[in-house]
Amino acid sequence: MNKKELEKIKEKALQEHIPIIMDDTLEVIEERLKQNPPKRILEIGTAVGYSAICFTDFLAPDGLIDTIEREKDRVEEAKENLKKTEVEEKVNIYEGDAIDILPKLNEKYDAVFIDAAKGKYPFFLKESLRMIKPNGVIFADNILYKGYVMSDYNKHKQRTAVRNLREYIKEVSENPNLETEILEVGDGLAISRVKK
Ligand code: SAH
Ligand code: MG
Repeated sequence: MNKKELEKIKEKALQEHIPIIMDDTLEVIEERLKQNPPKRILEIGTAVGYSAICFTDFLAPDGLIDTIEREKDRVEEAKENLKKTEVEEKVNIYEGDAIDILPKLNEKYDAVFIDAAKGKYPFFLKESLRMIKPNGVIFADNILYKGYVMSDYNKHKQRTAVRNLREYIKEVSENPNLETEILEVGDGLAISRVKK
């Protein structure tokens, strides 16, 4: 992968306030994935491809990433970024709303990275559970949402997002087939390991 191009993509995304994955969150994901490099990763929320490009470094040889993005301009930019960093063969972008695309997918994934509309996390979880392999891992970014999720804060215009993030945490915590940790890295990261 072309790291120099990756740095430029990161700088541009930060300048444009695109919410790309934070460095500490990426480090934790790398640490979890490198023990057993995944063959297939599903990402929900591509933006300009930054995280997907980073994840190509964690794949098994011949590994592949599927990633979903609904904003046309971002899909175009992500495709250019995949070319610039020379990873276009490892990342497949689905353009459209994950709400429509996920139910049509029938792959099995070793890892899922949920990083899109916070109000849809419970739906993304349901679809991820349908497609995750035994011993796979589901990561959910921004799970603590600036601290709103763990406070008694509920009069915010983002209350639907907060309610759904809380619902996500409840579901992964209560599911007997998952082993879940909630980490305070970045904007909060939920890591759920599938037992079987
Ligand atoms: N994973 C990226 C950042 C993603 S930002 C990175 O770390 O580099 C979240 C992205 O999800 C935005 O680009 C937004 O357009 C997209 N998104 C939000 N809701 C979506 C949905 N329902 N379906 C598809 N994409 C969605
Ligand atoms: Mg995020």
